[in-house]
Amino acid sequence: MVISEPKPLEEILESLEGQDKVFLVGCTECATVCQVGGEEQVKEMAETLERHGKTVMGSVLGDPGCHLLGLKRQFREHGEEIGAADGLLIMSCGNGAQTAADATDKPVHVATNTLFVGRVARFGHYREMCSLCGECTLEQTGYICPVTRCSKGLLNGPCGGATAEGKCEVDPEMDCGWLLIYNKLKEQNRLDLLKAYVAPKDVRMHPAERTLSREGGGEA
Ligand code: SF4
Ligand code: SF4
Repeated sequence: MVISEPKPLEEILESLEGQDKVFLVGCTECATVCQVGGEEQVKEMAETLERHGKTVMGSVLGDPGCHLLGLKRQFREHGEEIGAADGLLIMSCGNGAQTAADATDKPVHVATNTLFVGRVARFGHYREMCSLCGECTLEQTGYICPVTRCSKGLLNGPCGGATAEGKCEVDPEMDCGWLLIYNKLKEQNRLDLLKAYVAPKDVRMHPAERTLSREGGGEA
């Protein structure tokens, strides 16, 4: 899940300066679960903006907000309200905001900060689990990601700097990822996996902009 948090209201209002008529765009997926751009937050934002002198022309929840053709279709269905708006306020992640910007000619404004891909421990508590490296090595590390959960992203074992309490030398609030990996593999009786050399990641897998087209996937 893409984890986002709301931008401060002052920042949102600043970005909407001169935009008196606003159309709101949320998202049915991650932004709903993170409670930054679900139905309730869109309704609350509409009330807040009205209190600050804006006119909210309407709203829609992208289903999801990062589906370009779907969002274009939804925008067409709300053509009249969007046509009358000065701009759109996007309450999904940065991916959704860019998708919305490609789906309309109107100015879009971003209401959230997108943080990372993570899991929801419970509402309001998220943990980054994967850095999207493109070459997953979880199989060798007891299903604990060394790229994300070791501060140095080490692939072949610990740096040796962990504290006696098992905390990371870079971030004493954080458990040493490699100690977690070691303990997990020990518990599973799979410590032999640590003897295998893991090659450096192929940086060519990380161009600035990544795309993927699966055979038979059709148009998104
Ligand atoms: S190794 Fe870590 S960062 Fe790379 S894909 Fe697997 S979980 Fe994600
Ligand atoms: S102490 Fe552990 S988590 Fe921190 S950088 Fe070293 S190996 Fe990685």
